[in-house]
Amino acid sequence: MNMKQPANKPVVKMKKKSREEIIATLKTKFKISELVCPHTVAKFGEKSWQFLNTELLETLLVLRFDIFGVGMTGNHGTSTQRGLRCNICQLVKDHAIKN
Ligand SMILES: [Zn+2]
Repeated sequence: MNMKQPANKPVVKMKKKSREEIIATLKTKFKISELVCPHTVAKFGEKSWQFLNTELLETLLVLRFDIFGVGMTGNHGTSTQRGLRCNICQLVKDHAIKN
């Protein structure tokens, strides 16, 4: 351990990517259908990327490419509520009824 390096200072400075660069890179590994619910994909298609927060996308990018470096699965098969959910997704609907 380097004792001269303060614990809270980042060791590597990464170039900040634009939202467009982040999305373009993520598109090489994720389909939008993995990240948003089927209702959103049906209505907005590829424009569904607009609903995902830039900080979330940046985090996904770093996890996928810099930290894990392996495939990650979002919505897949019958699992459709792992990403962004709209107000007609069952989980959201159930909580709306309770509250
Ligand atoms: Zn939905």
